[in-house]
Amino acid sequence: DPVRIPRAEHSISRSQISSATLKVLYTLKDAGYEAYMVGGGVRDLLAGVPPKDFDIATDAKPEQIRALFRNCRLVGRRFLIAHVRFGSEVLEVTTFRGPISDSHERDDSGRILSDNVYGTLEEDAFRRDFTVNGLYYDIRDFAIVDYVGGLEDLKRRQLRLIGDPELRYREDPVRMLRAVRIASKLGFEIEASARKAIPQLAPLLGEVPAARLFEEVLKILLAIDAAASFRTLCELGLFREMFPQSEAVISESPQLLQFVESALSNTADRLARGATVSPSFLYAALLWPAVERRASTLQDKQGHPPAVAWTQAAEEVVARQISRVAIPKRFSVPAREIWMLQPRFEQRRGARAKRLLGHPRFRAAYDFLLLRAEAGLAPQELAQWWTDAQESVELSDLPPVPDED
Ligand code: ATP
Ligand code: MG
Repeated sequence: DPVRIPRAEHSISRSQISSATLKVLYTLKDAGYEAYMVGGGVRDLLAGVPPKDFDIATDAKPEQIRALFRNCRLVGRRFLIAHVRFGSEVLEVTTFRGPISDSHERDDSGRILSDNVYGTLEEDAFRRDFTVNGLYYDIRDFAIVDYVGGLEDLKRRQLRLIGDPELRYREDPVRMLRAVRIASKLGFEIEASARKAIPQLAPLLGEVPAARLFEEVLKILLAIDAAASFRTLCELGLFREMFPQSEAVISESPQLLQFVESALSNTADRLARGATVSPSFLYAALLWPAVERRASTLQDKQGHPPAVAWTQAAEEVVARQISRVAIPKRFSVPAREIWMLQPRFEQRRGARAKRLLGHPRFRAAYDFLLLRAEAGLAPQELAQWWTDAQESVELSDLPPVPDED
């Protein structure tokens, strides 16, 4: 039997739950269904961290959910999920899933390919990834229901997989990335056996569709704790699987490693101030070590002129990268522009400098130059010059260019 923690004995109050979530929970309950808040929302509230979103689990089938809400779409191929929209908030409502069995379609490494058997609350709990993600908040009496020992692990501040780690990672290798992301977000440890299994299973990420990895990588990198996640991804051999070209370079260049770390902590500062961070800027930073290395090789060994070397390096690196982790064109095109503008910062005389200042991608490229300078990859003096140059209105106001330029 599950442990039930009554309302009086836990800290989650309805005032911490979005009104849209409450509305969906009550609508399901009033229609005679079971309805629970589950996953990250329960976990984060209990851990004292603001939740990103609230997920809902119910015994209502997708069609029954759709019948209850006007703004509801059914999405997903592996498993139908109902998306219920309230203003800008989209809630994921999932029907309890049944146990994994031999009848589930798998690939050669054990990855589950189709997943469409419905089940009970208890079965649903054991299908979730980490114990702290398997806690349910019951809208009937506001109790927390725990089948998997999640409350104990929350107290111990650890992420423990439900069941055998190797088996659970084989079913879905993305759980390795989720472990890293959630541990960084909460400041938890990954429980020893769950952590130990990762390095040898990391190559399974190669079988995950590149588009799904893209989504997961963005969730990891567009987070305040991205730098901590990045270090863990490197330690556990996960970064190498996703960004092999960059990993090869940063593993032997402390300076380029430092560059990527600065980019990630810069992101964190921006997020903390409420500023936006563009995925293209992050990808530009993550792939920069590979692009820079390749461009220098093309220049030094093959004698390509800089502009040609840069263009070709960018092309090659992106082409190889997208076979691992997809990068939609709307992000790879601006990333490439940021790279291509870097050599142009070295040309500071008159009209050329003015043209660069007026370039639509100047701001992102300049931020990127600052990061390069911070990591010692570009002269501080050059970065400072472009900082000053932005104050100038007329060509004649541009700061003086040092002799060697
Ligand atoms: P956050 O929303 O903060 O990113 P989360 O844990 O809520 O974290 P979601 O992707 O919103 O992540 O998933 C909601 C819940 O669905 C999880 O808490 C977990 O119970 C379950 N879940 C998500 N992904 C998986 C998976 N790959 N394997 C098993 N269960 C999963
Ligand atoms: Mg969630």
